[in-house]
Amino acid sequence: MRSMKHEGAARKTVRASLPLDARGHRDEAAFFVDFDGTLVDIAPTPDAVVVPTRLAGLLSRLSERTGGAVAVLTGRSLDTIDRKLGPTVLPGCGQHGLELRLPCGRSVSRDVAEMDPVRRSLTALSADWPGGVEIEDKGLALAVHFRAAPDAAATIERDVARAVGHAPERFRLRHGKMVVEATLAGTSKGTALRRLMMEAPFHGRAPIVFGDDVTDDDAFDAARAFGGTSYQVGRRDGHRADFEIGGPADVLRILESRADAANRGGASREPTRRSGSSDEPATRRNPRRAEP
Ligand SMILES: [Mg+2]
Repeated sequence: MRSMKHEGAARKTVRASLPLDARGHRDEAAFFVDFDGTLVDIAPTPDAVVVPTRLAGLLSRLSERTGGAVAVLTGRSLDTIDRKLGPTVLPGCGQHGLELRLPCGRSVSRDVAEMDPVRRSLTALSADWPGGVEIEDKGLALAVHFRAAPDAAATIERDVARAVGHAPERFRLRHGKMVVEATLAGTSKGTALRRLMMEAPFHGRAPIVFGDDVTDDDAFDAARAFGGTSYQVGRRDGHRADFEIGGPADVLRILESRADAANRGGASREPTRRSGSSDEPATRRNPRRAEP
């Protein structure tokens, strides 16, 4: 299991409003948000997540106020995310970029049959796995969850690696929190962000990315290349985001403040100094990204 050692002593606490507003991007930002662990708290199984009742409305309102510049970047399928966020439907990527929904609504996707060799192999290997291990078939990716059987981690990692081992150039592994996933090579949340940034209304804006897991690092890197800002949600050693915030509740508070700012007009390019405000979550600067 990944170490979660606290490094807070080296970090400078600032307020969320400073990195967001001081760059002058209040009305020119584009938002890219992960789902699990970012908009909702992680649950023992993917189906068990609790979606806050206000989430869909918040994202819809933020999207409306930013001219549609809100996208979801998730490891889940877009169909699943649509059900979780319904009736709100956002552009973005599913399955770490294997599925892509452009702002116009057009979807681009790989062929699920490309995963058949891995699907067959994992099905055979799973006969020896303990109870609690769950294969989530996303079509273009196969995720094996072992949160309910943590002692099986080494076995699962070995078997999923074995399942893709016959064609390593065609497949890749992704390691997340108590999950290992076999997927097609060549796409990531970073490639999805770059593709979406070619399209209106994202094009020309500064991306702001929120994510919690190792697969979000590609999107953090991509955001930086576009002059944007990235937020690691929850503690994770070695992340590549610019800032850290506590959890999904903090993400929702930031998004609400942005939606409210846009709702009030939000046209000011002056930094908003509200360091004493109690409704904004504390944000820690990533010391490895801090300016000298
Ligand atoms: Mg996540």
